[in-house]
Amino acid sequence: MKKIQMVDLKSQYEKIQEEIDAAVLNVIRSTQYINGPEVKNFQKELENYLGVKHVIPCANGTDALQIAMMALDLQPGDEVITADFTYVATAEVIALLKLKPVLVDVYEDTFDIDIEAIERAITPKTKAIVPVHLFGQAANMEAITEVARKHNLHVIEDTAQAIGCDYTFKDGSTQKVGTIGTIGCTSFFPSKNLGCYGDGGAIFTNDDDLALKLKQTANHGQSRQYIHDRVGVNSRLDSIQAAILRIKLRHLDTYSAERNKAADFYDNAFANHPKVKTPKRVSHSNHVFHQYTLQLNGVNRDELRAFLSEKGVPAMIYYPIPLHLQEAYTDPRYKEGDFPVTEKLCASVISLPMQTELTQDQLKHITSSLLEYLN
Ligand SMILES: *Cc1c(COP(=O)(O)O)cnc(C)c1O
Repeated sequence: MKKIQMVDLKSQYEKIQEEIDAAVLNVIRSTQYINGPEVKNFQKELENYLGVKHVIPCANGTDALQIAMMALDLQPGDEVITADFTYVATAEVIALLKLKPVLVDVYEDTFDIDIEAIERAITPKTKAIVPVHLFGQAANMEAITEVARKHNLHVIEDTAQAIGCDYTFKDGSTQKVGTIGTIGCTSFFPSKNLGCYGDGGAIFTNDDDLALKLKQTANHGQSRQYIHDRVGVNSRLDSIQAAILRIKLRHLDTYSAERNKAADFYDNAFANHPKVKTPKRVSHSNHVFHQYTLQLNGVNRDELRAFLSEKGVPAMIYYPIPLHLQEAYTDPRYKEGDFPVTEKLCASVISLPMQTELTQDQLKHITSSLLEYLN
């Protein structure tokens, strides 16, 4: 059996190696390394795939979030609501722009931002909500959009972990996540569901005016060459990464299916086990399983990880510390105990290997090792 990894980028690459190698060499030989045709083509293909009017490629997912907030002209002191249980980047850009991150708790069974908690956190200074489609399943966008409409707020979807995920509205229609709110942001970090071989990111919107502002913000605030209408940043997706992403985008749905196969295997193995709770599936979204995250009940997590490690089974904790207890985000408004669900999750979650290349042998070994410890 091949060594088990959280993410197996090498095996995935080997299956598309010829195509990738040729595409990369083609860019090198073209010398169009920045803003070359590959970037434009990828942008168009992603727009088609997502069913969104505008894709603005950029350098990474964190930049995507920052550019989104800059293009919305949010001002220092404006409040932006986001989940306490997320990757730091979401809150980081809010703080970096001197906006005020307002953290709220999440639902225990889905890890998603708590809608009532959002409503309670809204003040006259609130300007935007940033839901995170954590681990690959959509937050309740219909409810979030409704709250946002009522209070005239922007919605910036952090889609870094859920590209390709379909949201199902109450009327049965579906839409890709990241295209429902005012702006969607994603990351092409190598381990993400659609990953390149370096850094990359993109921003989505259906709003023509906003698309222009986003494009300009990502390019030094430039409206025409050497004409700068706003303060911007320099954030580009390079042509080599775009060429790789064009190929991988064609495989994204197959990759999601592979992730779901692994998730189904895990679900079956741990169904109704008193010591682990499998990830809940919701009716408003399919799942693209960026992570497969269990909640442990009465299990010593460190001991379990050490046991698994001995068996050659890696496992990770996403995320071990709530944002409000991180040194950089401590705030007199927040103290331990304020976000009990996030605090409980940070202490009880464990993520198993989740990727496109897991074999039946590997899955059997992972589940039997975990069950051996639990039983
Ligand atoms: C990965 C990630 C980001 C940041 O993406 P980078 O490309 O690493 O900057 C932002 N938000 C979430 C939820 C992520 O998982």
